[in-house]
Amino acid sequence: MADTFPGPTSGSPLSLGSDGTLDVPVDPIIPFIEGDGIGRDIWKASQRVFDAAVEKAYGGARRVHWWEVLAGQKAFDQCGSWLPEQTVDAFRSHRVGIKGPLTTPIGGGIRSLNVALRQQLDLYTCLRPVRWFTGVPSPVREPGLVDMVIFRENTEDIYAGIEFEQGSADADRFAALMKEHFPDRFAKVRFPDTAGYGIKPVSQEGTERLVRAAIRYALDQGRKSVTLVHKGNIMKFTEGAFRNWGYALAEKEFGEQTYTWDQWERTKAEKGEEAANAEQAAALQAGRILVKDAIADIALQQVLTRPKEFEVIATLNLNGDYLSDALAAQVGGIGIAPGGNVNYSTGHAIFEATHGTAPKYADLDMVNPSSVILSGEMMFRHLGWGEVSDRILRGVEGAIEARTVTYDFARQMEGATKIKCSEFGDAIIQHMEDK
Ligand code: NAP
Repeated sequence: MADTFPGPTSGSPLSLGSDGTLDVPVDPIIPFIEGDGIGRDIWKASQRVFDAAVEKAYGGARRVHWWEVLAGQKAFDQCGSWLPEQTVDAFRSHRVGIKGPLTTPIGGGIRSLNVALRQQLDLYTCLRPVRWFTGVPSPVREPGLVDMVIFRENTEDIYAGIEFEQGSADADRFAALMKEHFPDRFAKVRFPDTAGYGIKPVSQEGTERLVRAAIRYALDQGRKSVTLVHKGNIMKFTEGAFRNWGYALAEKEFGEQTYTWDQWERTKAEKGEEAANAEQAAALQAGRILVKDAIADIALQQVLTRPKEFEVIATLNLNGDYLSDALAAQVGGIGIAPGGNVNYSTGHAIFEATHGTAPKYADLDMVNPSSVILSGEMMFRHLGWGEVSDRILRGVEGAIEARTVTYDFARQMEGATKIKCSEFGDAIIQHMEDK
């Protein structure tokens, strides 16, 4: 069994310019992981859509050179490894790539291939835009009001994986250490003899780089607010600190472009509520972005009841996990929700489907390819090829508006024509230049 796979045969790699921005050649090599299960069908449809959009946008002056890199079942079968080092190196050296869903190896050494990739490349932001396409079946009355972008912290929080299994020697040692050094906190453990433990690291650096990315995004995209979602009322030194560091960063680095609820509180304490309201209104009138916060449980209600009040959301790992899937459900579910994992300092990014491998539908040419296609839309925008992204969006909008859709939408849309995964790709290409 070969433990490597072929390298790229044409094209040029991306690099990072001296000003810290991505240098994208006209013939970029983009590594991709096709994905397991439904990934195979989805990738075929997606690549055709991407190539057609690039061709329509640039008429042959630019072209992507796709390079297949292996992970998941295909990598295991061909190279004997679920995540070959060569794949991680490919994303590291070529900076930007895209992937389909991967089988999670059961009982293997790697908990999740996705988490491993994010950690090894320090992709600290999980970016999840959530918007509605006209006609997509939704369980809410006004899904069109949902237009949010979630910046979920990707490297810290309970996801760091620092856990001690109940009954293990490590858990006993950890409990003994806590008992000896932090007796007051150990006394709070309700059932110490049968407890497992998890540690939740949240740092100032980790918070600042995420909140910085969220505010920059809001400024670049002309968004009006950034909401810090946290559970700081209960977890003061982790989630509460996230809120405080987030506000401090906004005032320190974006003092001229933002107005924070922290400022509002200080003005209220000094001069009263009326003065604070007037100050905020003047700042927003002058075009500043409002940086506010919401407790996670209330935020989960308000994204449903008052979606217009949320534009960009910055939040910790676990909150972000719940929030992004709950929001995706409002606008059509995981078949259509795209995602990206980005390090804004190094330019490294992997865009990916947010659903799994749905093995029962594998190779039936049946499922919805939109999650990977819209992840590609995000990728091209990240590369600065916005003309390609615009065409992909128009194509998806047009295909859905024409009610030519895959089974998952067709079963909920009146008067829809059910088409195959590959045909949905064709429909997107057909509508790319709709007015
Ligand atoms: P799943 O693969 O996401 O599928 C669950 C259900 O979601 C499907 O049965 C289908 O619902 C719907 N669905 C998913 N993708 C769809 C698409 N493209 N178009 C239309 N409907 C779609 O979740 P799972 O069955 O729990 O997980 C299967 C495997 O995927 C596991 O090995 C898991 O670890 C892995 N996984 C990987 C990733 C990733 O790589 N990012 C993420 C999650 C899970 P209906 O049957 O109702 O039509």
